Amino acid sequence: MEHKTVLILGGGVGGLVTANNLRKSLGKEHRIIVIDQDRQHRFAPSFLWLMTGLRKPEKICRDLNSLSKKGIEFVEGKIAQFDAKSKTVEVNGRQFSGDYVVVSLGANLVPDSVPGLETTGHNFYTMEGAEGLRDALRNFKSGDLVVLITSIPYKCPAAPYEAAMLLEYDCRKRKIRDDVNISLYAAEPGPMGVAGKELSAAVRKMVEDKGIHFYPEHHLESVGTKEKMLHFSNGTEAHFDFLAYVPKHEVPEVVREAGLVGESGWVKVDRNSMETKFSGVFSIGDVTGIPLALGKPLPKAGVFAHYQAEVVAHNIAVDITGKGKTKQFSGAGECFVEIGDGKAGFARGNFYAEPLPQVKMYRPGRYWHAGKVLFEKDWLRRWF
Ligand SMILES: Cc1cc2nc3c(=O)[nH]c(=O)nc-3n(C[C@H](O)[C@H](O)[C@H](O)COP(=O)(O)OP(=O)(O)OC[C@H]3O[C@@H](n4cnc5c(N)ncnc54)[C@H](O)[C@@H]3O)c2cc1C
Repeated sequence: MEHKTVLILGGGVGGLVTANNLRKSLGKEHRIIVIDQDRQHRFAPSFLWLMTGLRKPEKICRDLNSLSKKGIEFVEGKIAQFDAKSKTVEVNGRQFSGDYVVVSLGANLVPDSVPGLETTGHNFYTMEGAEGLRDALRNFKSGDLVVLITSIPYKCPAAPYEAAMLLEYDCRKRKIRDDVNISLYAAEPGPMGVAGKELSAAVRKMVEDKGIHFYPEHHLESVGTKEKMLHFSNGTEAHFDFLAYVPKHEVPEVVREAGLVGESGWVKVDRNSMETKFSGVFSIGDVTGIPLALGKPLPKAGVFAHYQAEVVAHNIAVDITGKGKTKQFSGAGECFVEIGDGKAGFARGNFYAEPLPQVKMYRPGRYWHAGKVLFEKDWLRRWF
């Protein structure tokens, strides 16, 4: 059998699962190379606990270099160029070519999409931002606390709603809740809309039952940094003393330049095999745009990157070894929804179901919160 090389672009959720699964199913004569600009893998779901002081940064990070002990090569560096036809990338002035490429480069965050946002608010979608929020929160004792979803699409549709509820819980714990007015402004009609009207209404109710004011369909136009005002395109405005925001997301430039992007502005793939228009080049996770029958895209979430990675790794191994049958990504997914007080809800379903995704929400409780804690532990142990 010919020796093959699989290049995995990105060592986040999708890249990590692809690399580990491939390593298990392929002999050591085949090379598996993960390339990431960042040596640290950060477990993003725990940023929500980090920002409210419930986690320490070092507890939710792992060094991608440690993959070498499993026989997975790691290259640290920014991918400057990707030629999808020849399956070649350029990193730190060096060229790497593969027989297969898996593009799992995620979404690029644009915190300064609206002037003033970055300097006055806390971007809790990065580890540094979540840490900054945590530090600033200690000095925040009263006033207007605003959680803002700047634009769609954004990853993890539950995260900003969870953030608002965890911040509300933090205010209660610190006995300042009566002095804090909490609002959530969203550039979308409601929470987790792709999962269905009922589920969306249930999450909205959870948020509002905590006394958090919810303002859907608010698209940020500008930020008044001196007077601390958010101005929205519908003519309304909101004052903030403390601002936590989800930044604009966009496709990484190197992916756009590689000609992989479709009408959605994200990578176009076969929704079952995750193959792009270039044979042997697959793409998974947040960087992809998968239209659903209801007219909205498949949400960007780690769970999808994970399950897509399993399918792609399996199918590449089948192609190389000639053993086994190929699999398809089914659109199944699930997520925990943290609501504070040591409780969480849980949603699970099939997002490829037609005409509408079929997703069920399970009643929040301590059980699901414990499930998320276990998942975090398992993640950081299993893949490193
Ligand atoms: C606060 C928060 C909470 C979340 N909670 C959940 C949750 O509970 N459940 C869930 O399913 N999802 C959750 N998510 C979403 C989840 O983290 C993402 O959907 C997931 O990480 C996507 O995986 P990915 O492999 O597509 O991209 P990523 O994990 O983002 O990995 C992309 C990698 O590519 C690298 N990269 C990008 N460009 C380049 C380049 N040019 N050169 C080299 N490297 C590059 C990046 O450094 C990064 O490591 C959450 C996200 C956040 C921010």
